[in-house]
Amino acid sequence: MPDTTICAVATPPGRGGIGVIRVSGPTTASLIETVVGPLPSARRASFRRFAGDDGVAIDEGLVLWFPGPHSFTGEDVAELHGHGGPVVMDRLLQRLLGLGAELASPGEFSQRAYSNGRIDLTRAEAIADLIEAGSESAARAAVRSLQGEFAQTVERLVRRLTDLRVHLEAGIDFADEPLEGLALDGVVQRIEAIAAEVAETRRAAGRGQRLQEGLTVVIAGRPNAGKSSLLNALAGRDAAIVTALAGTTRDVLDTYLHIDGLPLRVLDTAGLRQGGDVVEQEGVRRARQAMREADRILLVTDDTAPALAADDSEITDLQAELPASVPVTTVVNKIDLSGRTPGVANDGFAVSALTGDGMAALREHLRASLGEDDTEAVFIARRRHLQSLDAGAAAIDEALEAAHAGAGEELVAESLGEAQRALGEITGAVTPEDLLGRIFSTFCIGK
Ligand code: GDP
Repeated sequence: MPDTTICAVATPPGRGGIGVIRVSGPTTASLIETVVGPLPSARRASFRRFAGDDGVAIDEGLVLWFPGPHSFTGEDVAELHGHGGPVVMDRLLQRLLGLGAELASPGEFSQRAYSNGRIDLTRAEAIADLIEAGSESAARAAVRSLQGEFAQTVERLVRRLTDLRVHLEAGIDFADEPLEGLALDGVVQRIEAIAAEVAETRRAAGRGQRLQEGLTVVIAGRPNAGKSSLLNALAGRDAAIVTALAGTTRDVLDTYLHIDGLPLRVLDTAGLRQGGDVVEQEGVRRARQAMREADRILLVTDDTAPALAADDSEITDLQAELPASVPVTTVVNKIDLSGRTPGVANDGFAVSALTGDGMAALREHLRASLGEDDTEAVFIARRRHLQSLDAGAAAIDEALEAAHAGAGEELVAESLGEAQRALGEITGAVTPEDLLGRIFSTFCIGK
């Protein structure tokens, strides 16, 4: 247990009706007594005067006292609910610092809660994700993780892996002959069942991660095909926040927008011309990089321009650059000029970015192809969770292969142990210190 007492303003900066200061650590009780008088009864709001070091009141408001271990952090915790003005909050904070408390670092309250076994890592992360949630579906998924659904699923998997490993290791210790052929059959089935559940969990977590981070869509195409216009048409009245990364129009533009609650990060690329000056080459390099990491590419063509030849270097170059795994949707633009009917055509989605014709169908297609049915149970997840699930799945595959090959219990058990470790990192059952530091340092102060 840390021997420091930490404090921080837990409400956002600025002015508000109420501002909350949170205190946690071994000297919380004496600090609070010094500022507000005798400790109030546990977990009940008491109205008090908050005294400065000269005895003059800094503010007045509610005090809440949560003696450990039944508190958020597991330590003695108190909250001072004063008036939410920056000067009042700062003076109260200074008062506590003057009494020996330390300013909490980002995420330190949650990290203490985790260290004291009050919450597992997925729940700690879900707190941060709920606060950061940019859409209703992301917030719903974060609450599911906060309530422990993700953690329970992972813990159940880890338990099943452990049981199987124990079973195999008992075989190693007690059997004269290794289990062979038929004897391993039951084991194979059990591993297969676990593999299926890991895959199912990976699917749900993948959806959660996309909800959390949004999907990346790249808009590519020749200059003047209408890429910027299409982006504006997609953003519509969503008032997209457009940020030019560097001060050049040739750079990649990032826009964040929502299509029915599905967060999208749209990259408008510089066009894929070869050559050009240094700035242009840099734009091309970034465009290619963005495309490799995209979830989907919108390839914009101009319906009034001559059809792209099969050997058009821009298209062949593009195809050569693209990982086969990134799906491409072709958008045939400027149909207001060509006179084509809007909607689905055999060469893509026919739209006019200018008039908006065909845009509804394109938006629906994007939502359907990228989005997920958000009525499905999804828990919020992060890239690190997906990596752990992938590592776990790979180790389980190895175990399965070893079992099929009749490699002996020892090898099978070893791979299962690896899977167990990988999955254990998700909830923090086995988590290296540096990972913990990285996770909590992204939290905001007071959390
Ligand atoms: P980008 O270079 O691919 O980003 O293309 P822009 O979005 O800048 O568009 C190039 C030109 O085509 C501009 O003058 C646009 O106004 C025009 N444009 C884009 N989309 C349409 C469309 O659907 N119909 C018509 N008539 N003009 C369009």
